Parts: sequence; structure tokens; C-alpha cells
Amino acid sequence: MTFHATVLTLYPEMFPGSLDLSLAGRAREAGTWSLETVQIRDFATSKHRNVDDTPAGGGAGMVMRADVLARAIDHAAPADDPRPRLLMSPRGKPLDQQRVRELAAGPGAVILCGRFEGVDQRVIEARGLEEVSVGDYVLSGGEPAALVLLDAVIRLLPGVMGNDASGEEESFEGGLLEHPQYTRPQLFEERPIPEVLLSGNHAKIAAWRRAEAERLTRERRPDLWAALNKDRQRVP
Ligand code: SAH
Repeated sequence: MTFHATVLTLYPEMFPGSLDLSLAGRAREAGTWSLETVQIRDFATSKHRNVDDTPAGGGAGMVMRADVLARAIDHAAPADDPRPRLLMSPRGKPLDQQRVRELAAGPGAVILCGRFEGVDQRVIEARGLEEVSVGDYVLSGGEPAALVLLDAVIRLLPGVMGNDASGEEESFEGGLLEHPQYTRPQLFEERPIPEVLLSGNHAKIAAWRRAEAERLTRERRPDLWAALNKDRQRVP
């Protein structure tokens, strides 16, 4: 089954970008996922092919027009297209590993990249767009956010990561950040690899990793730690 991504953008030349390299690039060659870009400007009908206009009520910047975007969306994803329609947006629900996993298990995604001050509210409602944020900061456009989302999804598609177990032990998968990692050399600038990792005792190693993951999560992400402990209390 191929994951079909369709990206609506004013800058199609930003794709596949980084997604043509490494794991994602090989996976696209192998047909694990496909990418189609749609130039939003092709759906403008005015003489100057405007895709944006001044905000109703006044204020700075420009807003992407609902009619132009609706035509682009209807072309890219007719009403019976089962794929979720995402709008990259700083107002959206923050993207997390759970949503990434859900998307990776589905048929693909139609992703609209905003520019300027954003898009007319009416097309969000009329086309049922799900607003997705990649973090509490403002980008100049949705394209880098779409690349981030697709990167996170593609690496979870079947066969993309060589060692499938590595997906399960990672940050967020168990509600925790990942434990610290080490590799050769055994001594780096007077710093040894923690003894226990060289012990060959798998139970001890697992316990150490778990304890470190918990410590890091507590220290760095009290929000994740609190959510995890709330979940634990719910277990009878
Ligand atoms: N005026 C808007 C910001 C517009 S930024 C506001 O204050 O909410 C222009 C475009 O960049 C947005 O339409 C969106 O598509 C994209 N973008 C900016 N920051 C983003 C973020 N954190 N996550 C996802 N998309 C973002």
C-alpha cells in the first residue's frame, strides 16, 4: 500500500526537497510513498492570477483567498478522497507522535501550505481542514512544516526503517524521552561509556535505560511526565 501525499503550495519547487534523500528518498523510489504537488496559483482566475487579498476589517499583510484554495483542494482531493485534509497552521493542534502514527497507518494526506497572514477562515470550515502546528513559533510559510510532518510519517511506513524495533524504543513512543546513547570509542576526552552498558547484563541495561529515560523526562518535560503519571493512575 502506497502512502499518497498531495501538497498544495505556492512553492512546489520546495518539494520533495530533503525528502528525496536518505530513507525517505529510497522509500519514494521503492513506491512506499508518492508525492504530488499542486501549484495553488494555477487555480486563480483573475487577470493577474491573484491568490491573496487584503484582510477584511483591515490590518497588515494579505490573506489567501477561499475561492482559489477551494478550487485547488477540489482538484487535488475530490469529495470522495478518503485522505485527511491538513492545513499547516500555528493555530493548529501541535503535531505529536500519536497523530504521526495515525497518519502513517492511513492512505495518505492532502496538505495545504499557507503563506502571508494565513487563509480565509471560510475555506477551513467549508473543506473540513484539520489545522496542524509543528510548534509554538511562526514560520513564513507552511512548506517547512509540511516537510517536517511528512518526514515524521514516512519513517514509520512499513519497511522504511531498517531495524523496526528502533521505532518502538524512541522518544515519545512510551510517553518518555529516550535514554542517552553511546558508541565507540569507549573513552572520549576522559569520558567513559557508563559501565552498565558494557556489562552484557540485558536486564540491568534495560533498567538503567528506563531510569535515565524517566529522569530526562521529569527534568526536561514535566508536561509529558505529568501526562504519563495520570495515565498510570487510571490503570486499575
Ligand atoms: N498570521 C498567522 C501566521 C501566518 S504564517 C498567525 O499569526 O497565526 C504563514 C503560514 O505559515 C501559515 O498560514 C502556515 O501555513 C505556516 N506556518 C507558520 N507557522 C507554522 C507552525 N508553527 N506550524 C505549522 N504551520 C505554520
